[in-house]
Amino acid sequence: GKVVKAAKEAVSVAKIIADQTGKEIFGIAIDDNIDSVVDLAGKMGISTIKGASGITLYHPTMFSRIIVNAARDADVIVFPGTVWGREIAPQVCVKLDATPLSDIIEVVDGSTFKRSIHGNKIHSTINASGKLIITVRAAVFDVPELGDGTANLENISTETVDGDSVMKLAEILASSSETIELTEADIIVSGGRGIGGPENFHLIEELAKELGAAVGASRAVVDAGWRPHNEQVGQTGKFVSPKIYIAVGISGAIQHMAGMSTSDTIVCINKDEEAPIFKVSDYGLVGDLFEVMPK
Ligand code: FAD
Repeated sequence: GKVVKAAKEAVSVAKIIADQTGKEIFGIAIDDNIDSVVDLAGKMGISTIKGASGITLYHPTMFSRIIVNAARDADVIVFPGTVWGREIAPQVCVKLDATPLSDIIEVVDGSTFKRSIHGNKIHSTINASGKLIITVRAAVFDVPELGDGTANLENISTETVDGDSVMKLAEILASSSETIELTEADIIVSGGRGIGGPENFHLIEELAKELGAAVGASRAVVDAGWRPHNEQVGQTGKFVSPKIYIAVGISGAIQHMAGMSTSDTIVCINKDEEAPIFKVSDYGLVGDLFEVMPK
């Protein structure tokens, strides 16, 4: 019943491709109740949604089969760069014998795309032909502006899905509902190794709570086991683009900045004025975080 930001960004990419090629767009929605998704799709300018409702659990094999059936004739299939999108896209790609294009950051024209590789150090331009399966780098494209359009719902069959498929879902372990999802947050406060240990992370959590922000972390902190992996920002974590990103005790390694440098306003707190994070920051505070944070 909810459309994540990355999916809206994928719609923006589909619209750019459609504008450049004159092709039509349709959306695919798979969920328990898809009414609100159809409503939003219309407002985003999509006229048709192929929908499978009554599905309460995520299952990549089942989702990929539904998408293959619904989009068999599509020239281009665009997936959000979420964990699910990146899991399903390769399965659909193999089943449709299509050309994969992962992590795109720009549509040059309907068959030429830019990708970011090696932690944002290199942008490669790729010209591709045939049926294309695209995943979109999260937090790069704007979400579509909403109008007053409506979308038609075309119910799609899920009968082709074999209930005894190879993978079975055993259990879903939901993360705490009190935390704000990083990729959806307007404000993020992230902590790095400078925080000294998990016992000091309350400084990050308290500031985040005060600001209504999500909590993020550098990989050094996650690798040390101080914070869970779902809080990691960067090349091997999440790509985020909030209105405000506050980096505390984070040096600004290229792999971290690959995941947050498109944030609107970046603030850093670091005791080393030479730290690379200052180069991408709009506001930089040189100081000891243990003195600055409580204030
Ligand atoms: P450090 O580099 O150790 O920086 C700590 C900072 O805290 C320093 O700048 C220091 O001056 C400051 N500091 C210390 N004490 C204080 C204090 N009291 N007050 C204020 N400031 C203080 N990293 C990621 O973050 N995300 C990724 O997705 C990621 N992916 C990677 C993928 C690959 C293939 C590789 C090789 C690396 C990846 N890394 C990633 C790791 C990255 O290279 C860095 O090692 C990591 O980001 C460093 O984390 P940090 O900034 O917290 O720690």
